[in-house]
Amino acid sequence: MAQQHRYGGYNFTSGDSDSDRRWDGARRTSAGNHVARLQTDLAELGTYSGDIDGEFGPKTRRSLRMFSWNAKSHSQRVANQSVVQDTHRFNGSLSSSLNPLLCEEISRWLKSDFRTTGDLIRVQAADFANIELSSGFRVLSHKAVQQGEIVISLGFLESLKFADQTAGTLSVKLFLNQAFRVNGNAVSGAVVPPATKSQHLIGHAIDCNIVDGGSWNTSSDFRNGNETQAATQFIDAMTKHGLRWGGNFSRPDTPHFDKRVNPDSDDYDFKFAFNQLSISRNQPILLKK
Ligand SMILES: [Zn+2]
Repeated sequence: MAQQHRYGGYNFTSGDSDSDRRWDGARRTSAGNHVARLQTDLAELGTYSGDIDGEFGPKTRRSLRMFSWNAKSHSQRVANQSVVQDTHRFNGSLSSSLNPLLCEEISRWLKSDFRTTGDLIRVQAADFANIELSSGFRVLSHKAVQQGEIVISLGFLESLKFADQTAGTLSVKLFLNQAFRVNGNAVSGAVVPPATKSQHLIGHAIDCNIVDGGSWNTSSDFRNGNETQAATQFIDAMTKHGLRWGGNFSRPDTPHFDKRVNPDSDDYDFKFAFNQLSISRNQPILLKK
């Protein structure tokens, strides 16, 4: 491993502070702006939006944890305003403290001009034989998103393909009303988790009508027990595949299907943050064919 000198060669733990000359948990004799340098780097990488104050406090620690999560979980980066795939695998751990592996990873990103982004992708409805966009489907308002495109998390792509294939097997069409949803209040640099942690906000859900011949299998059809047999079979196949159907929720939401990420987890919070930020930052979104 290359020797790390980027931050004076120090690791950082809670309580470290440039003003106290405290790094890696101990008072040092010579002065330095080591924590401030890390804050500047994390701001550039896109996970830190606080003051550059040289204090290794909760904001900086969370920002470092976000970065380590992104490096571990995603291979998409933004470089020079385009999406690139990072082939290097970060083998460090999810961490709020600075360690040599994380330090090396930060240096590597900065050398490559990488910025953090989410795992949103664009797919074209036309590429799915049994998926159509309903008249109410709203194209996501973002410079990268074109008419006829659906925005989802890469982590939901397999689910969407499964839904499409299953619809084909059962000779139904799925009319999509919604996929990824931008969080209501404009997302600023500071990431505030939403009040309702919907799977739509991370790109892991769709709302659709299961159109079976002349029947749209609407919410009232389900309420009145008038759904068609193929609709029931479609739902069975989806739930057996590990997806949730909104019709089983305590407040039934029959058009809804999702691949649940636990809303009380880092995975949800960080996926939410990066995917929403990629919209507010106008980052490019990969078109997946
Ligand atoms: Zn929904």
